[in-house]
Amino acid sequence: MTYQGLIHRYGRYLELPSHTKNISLLEGNTPLIPMPRLSKEFGCELSVKFEGLNPSGSFKDRGMTAAVSEAVGRGVQTVICASTGNTAASAAAYASRAGLRAIVLIPEGKVAAGKLAGAITYGAEVIQVQGSFDDALTLVVEITQKTPIVLVNSINPFRIEGQKTAAFEICDDLGCAPDWLCLPVGNAGNITSYWAGFKQYQKGLPRVLGVQAAGAAPLVLGHPVDKPETIATAIRIGKPARGEQALEAAQQSNGKIIAVTDAEILSAQRILASEGVWVEPASAAGLAGLMAESGSRSAKHEARDKKVVVVCTGHGMKDPSIITESFQPPKIIPANYEALIGLIEK
Ligand SMILES: *Cc1c(COP(=O)(O)O)cnc(C)c1O
Repeated sequence: MTYQGLIHRYGRYLELPSHTKNISLLEGNTPLIPMPRLSKEFGCELSVKFEGLNPSGSFKDRGMTAAVSEAVGRGVQTVICASTGNTAASAAAYASRAGLRAIVLIPEGKVAAGKLAGAITYGAEVIQVQGSFDDALTLVVEITQKTPIVLVNSINPFRIEGQKTAAFEICDDLGCAPDWLCLPVGNAGNITSYWAGFKQYQKGLPRVLGVQAAGAAPLVLGHPVDKPETIATAIRIGKPARGEQALEAAQQSNGKIIAVTDAEILSAQRILASEGVWVEPASAAGLAGLMAESGSRSAKHEARDKKVVVVCTGHGMKDPSIITESFQPPKIIPANYEALIGLIEK
């Protein structure tokens, strides 16, 4: 039978109320891509769960199909979220699919172009807030407490339910849980979902390596960060809503939460691209963390000879600004053969 989306495939494992009305864009079912060259280099069996291939370009669609399906089923008309970009695009996509009004609050000037363009094109009402993601989240929480508007940030429990499906897919693809799961941590909904998913699915438990950006690493520092700064805008969050649960996942799994620099993130982004997988900066944090943990690439390390899954949370097309920041612009030639052959045979 053709694929019919996450609620259809995994609904029986998700705690969704009976009023839920399935709103799907055939999200999920993303590939677990083996990375033979990287595996060799790191001495482990490394694959990438490429979540950038979801309908709106990030894993947020897994949670959004569940949250919007639940909301529609009880007659909700408007959804709202605070977002560093991907939640906005995803909420906008699913709201438009369901015929709902979507309002998204983003931190002024801090959202990657591909995400903003998506949210606008899907028809959301986008509002810039003079403040951080955390300020925007505080605002949307307040408005959903005082009005019938429904919150679709990952504080919404159905977001977590939907996002558990990524753990199920990995177990189904590998036949068991991997030894290590490496992923970026921002508001900490995803790490919470994966851990809940692995525990529930009973195909074994991975050690979880959660990775924050050094300029936005509240869970590593042990306190909120007032002015989070990182090029990885999707994890530019100073006060994670599910921080406690993230720490619990790391501790219960015998894993850890670490921080990596922006330079390490960009380097991991290039390394992934060098084996054909283009992700947005935040999405490369998982690999950057694995690299930081394994020290010198050839040295003996904890992931050695192990099955490692690196979760790449969003597509590279989301954040084209990276071109000006870390790549050389393409050379320019006149439109003739001599100029071209002269350049490529040099
Ligand atoms: C949302 C997001 C994250 C962070 O996930 P959390 O659930 O907030 O921890 C990481 N990468 C990308 C691309 C995202 O969109």
